[in-house]
Amino acid sequence: MAQSPCVNCGQCTVYCPTGALREKSEIDAVWEAILDPDKHVIVQEAPAIRVSLGEEFGLPLGSITAKKMYAALRKIGFDAIMDTNFTADLTIMEEGTECVAKLKAGEKRPLITSCSPGWIKFMETYYPDLADCVSTAKSPMSMFGVLSKTYYAQEHGIDPAKIVSVAVMPCQDRLGRSDALHCQKV
Ligand code: SF4
Repeated sequence: MAQSPCVNCGQCTVYCPTGALREKSEIDAVWEAILDPDKHVIVQEAPAIRVSLGEEFGLPLGSITAKKMYAALRKIGFDAIMDTNFTADLTIMEEGTECVAKLKAGEKRPLITSCSPGWIKFMETYYPDLADCVSTAKSPMSMFGVLSKTYYAQEHGIDPAKIVSVAVMPCQDRLGRSDALHCQKV
C-alpha cells in the first residue's frame, strides 16, 4: 500500500462491479460510545445533510430538515449537536490569513484549497511540484475534530479522552445517492 498510487478517494467503493470493495461502517462503534455512560459523544453534521436527509424520507426536493434532524440526534442520545458550518468559517479564516501572508511575501500563487483529503493526497502524489500552492488548512470536519478535543473540552471541563467526536458527512453510498446515515468517527 505504501507504493500504491491510491489516493483514498473512495470512488472504487461506489463503482466496484462485484461488491468486493465496500465502505466501512462505524455505526456500531458510534452506538457503543453513546451507550457508554463514561463517554461524551459529540456529533457534527455537514450543511448538505439537512437537505439530503429529507430526500431519504421522501420529502419534496430541497426540504430543509435541520430541526427534525437535531431532535432525532438528541433522541438517539448524542450529548452535543454541532454544525460543521462553524468550522467552515474557521477554515475560511485560516485560508484567508494564509492567502494574505502569501501575497505579502510575494510567494508562489495561486493558493489552492479543498476539503477533500483524497484531493489533497492526489495533489501530493501526482503534482508534488505544486505543493507550495496547496493550503495547509485542515478541512472543516477535521478542524471540528481537533476543536472538540481541545477548545470544547476545556470550555466544558471534560477530559478529552472521554470525548468521542462523530461526523455525519455527505459521502456517496454504493447507489450513488447522498448518504446521510453513514457516520464517520474522528
Ligand atoms: S484512488 Fe480512489 S478509486 Fe482508486 S483505489 Fe484508491 S480509493 Fe479506490
